[in-house]
Amino acid sequence: MRSNAVFLLRRITRNYNIKNIFGKLEISLKILVSACLLGINSRYCGGGCLNEDVASLAENHFLIPVCPEQLGGLPTPREPDEIRDGRVYEKSGKENTEIFQKGACETLRIARLLKADMAILKQNSPSCGSSIIYDGTFNGKKIPGSGITASLLIQNGIRVISEEEIAGVM
Ligand code: SF4
Repeated sequence: MRSNAVFLLRRITRNYNIKNIFGKLEISLKILVSACLLGINSRYCGGGCLNEDVASLAENHFLIPVCPEQLGGLPTPREPDEIRDGRVYEKSGKENTEIFQKGACETLRIARLLKADMAILKQNSPSCGSSIIYDGTFNGKKIPGSGITASLLIQNGIRVISEEEIAGVM
């Protein structure tokens, strides 16, 4: 009986960090997060976009910062990119699709290595946007769609939400 309980506990704790504080059971998730949402200066412009609500999740969860565009090999700062007809282009016209795909693959590798439970990614980005992206004209127009990394994570069964959705989920 005791060995069954130990086995069950090991199975549960394999993926989750479980704390028992004064009898309260808390489950910490491993969450992949767009680095810029945590204030890391990884954006194309050389800045970040700290989201306090996302950053505060670090109090109870294990956050894994990733920037797919840096992981793909792009410098910071860099030209802005947008998706057009499924391909990724810099504003000046150079195609960066393969670099974005490499960044997506590296991000998926990290998610699998650390057994991430879910991802919170920056909306509107050609890498991280999960339901809205720019339309590819560099005119500030947004359309329904997802970025290269968000798409790959979703295709591989990882739940992806944006920073705009955490209030309803976390
Ligand atoms: Fe942020 Fe993602 Fe853009 Fe990197 S690729 S700066 S993490 S939105």
